[in-house]
Amino acid sequence: MFGIIKEWREQRILDNSEFTHTDWLHAAKRIVILDRLDEDELNRLFNLATLFLADKSITGAQGFEITDAVKQSIALQACLPILNLSLEWYAGWSSIIIYPGSYKSDSTTVDEMGIVHEGSQHRSGEAWLRGPVILSWKDAKHSGERDGHNVVIHEFVHKLDMLNGRANGFPPLQADMDPARWTEIMTRDFEDFQTHRKSGLDRYGATNPAEFFAVLSEVFFETPQKLIDAYPDIYDIMVKFFRQTPL
Ligand SMILES: [Zn+2]
Repeated sequence: MFGIIKEWREQRILDNSEFTHTDWLHAAKRIVILDRLDEDELNRLFNLATLFLADKSITGAQGFEITDAVKQSIALQACLPILNLSLEWYAGWSSIIIYPGSYKSDSTTVDEMGIVHEGSQHRSGEAWLRGPVILSWKDAKHSGERDGHNVVIHEFVHKLDMLNGRANGFPPLQADMDPARWTEIMTRDFEDFQTHRKSGLDRYGATNPAEFFAVLSEVFFETPQKLIDAYPDIYDIMVKFFRQTPL
């Protein structure tokens, strides 16, 4: 019964979308990393992004104007990690705030509040536990260019991580995954990364296990070969977690 209502509600949102299929195709063309998706995957991504936009509010800060292009870019990249999961992975919060550029944040009680933020003084993004995702457009607009950096995916992966409490690099896993294996591989490779540089992997990932998971997820979706070269076991468990094979 509830499934039918949900389906009907979702269909109504899709039917009333402000964006056409052609609009989405144009938006997707501007995000290089989406070129690996086939037609069926793209269609599912467009539907997911439409439902995402109906579920979340996107607000500009410091006078930043939220254009259609901004909305579509954020929605497409935010939905890429959950393409084969569901929108329920982004449940429990509703707001996305976008600054024109990097911004200063006053919050100093970082970990105790469950807030994860990037950069020391000027930040390019943040994800708050049960709160908003905050992004700098100056950084976000270069996401998806296949250079291994993607602040949008980074912050939304923190959200997946926070689905079972504070971000700690241990999200709720799929039913067929072994939590002990996830912990073992992540712990072992995080310790390795703290002392060894790896080509294409941002040192910011050595900050803590939550950042390690977020930074490596950026690489997983942007430049997967770099992740395979550095940490093949992590690529493997991420394939099982995200239910995608970017390479
Ligand atoms: Zn982070």
